[in-house]
Amino acid sequence: MGTEEYRLIEKDYITVIAGPCAIESEDQLDSIAKIVKESGLNFLRGGAYKPRSSPYTFQGLEEKGLRLLGKIGKKYGLKTVTEVTDADTVEKVAEYADILQIGTRNMSNFALLKKVSKVIHPSGRKVILKRGWASTIKEWLLAVEYLTAGGKNAEVVLCERGIRTFEPYTRFTLDLSAVPVIKKLSKLPIIIDPSHATGQSDLVIPMSRAAIAVGADGLIVEVHNKPEKALCDGQQSLNKAQLEEMIKQVRFIADFFGKKIK
Ligand code: PEP
Ligand code: MN
Repeated sequence: MGTEEYRLIEKDYITVIAGPCAIESEDQLDSIAKIVKESGLNFLRGGAYKPRSSPYTFQGLEEKGLRLLGKIGKKYGLKTVTEVTDADTVEKVAEYADILQIGTRNMSNFALLKKVSKVIHPSGRKVILKRGWASTIKEWLLAVEYLTAGGKNAEVVLCERGIRTFEPYTRFTLDLSAVPVIKKLSKLPIIIDPSHATGQSDLVIPMSRAAIAVGADGLIVEVHNKPEKALCDGQQSLNKAQLEEMIKQVRFIADFFGKKIK
């Protein structure tokens, strides 16, 4: 694919990216993409390379997952988001996906950031840079500069996904104050990941409402056709009805800002 005309984040819209934690099979991704499309959304997420905290859990379908993401994204006319986990596979990921995600565990992997910078500028790929769970806002903004070092044209979007605190009840602590702080310190767009932040599907809707109320430009949420059967992060994944409910509620808050959901 050549340079793309679309923007992930647009002034009059709240962007909602949805999809499974991990791509598990063609059937699974197809069913979830259908849910995402039928909900009126345009961006499909799905992990092919999974940087799991435990080496004993599902590590992702890797290249096969990338091929499925490319195929299903085209089938439903959805732009695709997937994580890049190491410098050696950046080109391969950019071959199949429209938007490259840098995960929390890699925000300070400067070799990876430099490689991503080299690939996004000629290819027109976009990047979502998640905040390291123990990184300050200043460190996060400096990490962005590795990505923009090759030129200022690539679209770089920040994602707050929760930081480590002493509170174990939620998986992480969602730092919603990062949104107005980022808006004060930079012109960068910022989205919220309420799925990884809370780790619990019933907390995703209230935190999504709050994210939009505080001024976030969008959301990235985990959705599964059968959350109870998911190979990864099922406990925090929304099903079809929950995704629809989330969009309905978030639309009320977006209305306040005169924004539509896309
Ligand atoms: C993900 O979005 O699939 C993911 C692993 O998120 P994080 O890097 O925020 O843990
Ligand atoms: Mn996940």
